[in-house]
Amino acid sequence: MPILPWHAETWNTLFGTPDAIPAAVLVAGEPGWGQDVFSQALAARLLCDGAQGTGAGACGKCESCRWLAAGTHPDYRRVIPEADEEEGEGEEAEASRSRKPEKKKSTQIRIEQIRALEDFVFTGSHRRGNRVIVLDPAEAMNPAAANALLKILEEPPSTVYFVLSSSAWRRLLPTVISRCRRVTLPRPREDLALAWLHAEGVGAEAGALLPVLGGAPVAAREWLEDGRSAAARAVIASLQETGTDPVSLAARWGTLVKDQDGLTRENLVGLVQRWVFDLILFSLAGQVRFMAAHRAAVEKGARGLSIPRLLACYNELLRIRMVSQHPLNAQLFLEDLAARFLMAIATKP
Ligand SMILES: [Zn+2]
Repeated sequence: MPILPWHAETWNTLFGTPDAIPAAVLVAGEPGWGQDVFSQALAARLLCDGAQGTGAGACGKCESCRWLAAGTHPDYRRVIPEADEEEGEGEEAEASRSRKPEKKKSTQIRIEQIRALEDFVFTGSHRRGNRVIVLDPAEAMNPAAANALLKILEEPPSTVYFVLSSSAWRRLLPTVISRCRRVTLPRPREDLALAWLHAEGVGAEAGALLPVLGGAPVAAREWLEDGRSAAARAVIASLQETGTDPVSLAARWGTLVKDQDGLTRENLVGLVQRWVFDLILFSLAGQVRFMAAHRAAVEKGARGLSIPRLLACYNELLRIRMVSQHPLNAQLFLEDLAARFLMAIATKP
């Protein structure tokens, strides 16, 4: 399990003193910084039989490392939001299954999933070594699940480690936070991020995308691999069009937004938000932060705009983004977003 280049210092600090790894570690960072990768590397290291030296990662060769890579390690659990159960029971469920075979993606880690860990935690290890549980993302635990976790954290056996991976750790219960040692990952340095993206084989387009995603390299790799980068380019192009109307703009976005495995509505609002942010920043200070690759277009677009109107739009977008995952009506949601944006960039009469 590799240690990402911008995590190396944090990793070395964490392993700086022998036996210093606490029973519960909260790995915190912003979305797309690679908390999950760090958490996996930490789990691998805690399970590895061959790790050498305080700063080293897992060896990658021992039996434990091989099991982990194969997904068959008996002393390792990774808890992620599970697919939602189909609604209803018995015949109703049968009927709904035949109508709709797919399960919805869940955003929650539930109490049953935490309770299911109790046997694992309190029964001995298969190998008389460490046992590791990764919760990813930890903020997905609902309150009942978090309270169940607290009970386990009260008195965990000494060889059991919890790794809580989070890109929104402030949303965790304070009682959970206080039981963990928080390891805050640093903002990835741009040169390290770009070098890593090149090494991952997605370097060519990464230069333009990385700032759009606020400098989050793991997010950039995902977007380049799953096609969201192309959709993002199309969205950014749509923001530069003149003479369009809310219905056409919304229709265009409608073809780019996917319900699953693609550009989400939240991603879309985020892109509009960053574009508006840069229009404001350019108007006030002649700078761009997210749209560095589109500086000329921002400069052109910012001409003659009303800053109060842009600021009002930006604040609206923050609110809209919060509800973007579950709009009452997806079509109206896009049209509303388009109307607000077009109003903000209408030049002063
Ligand atoms: Zn190993």
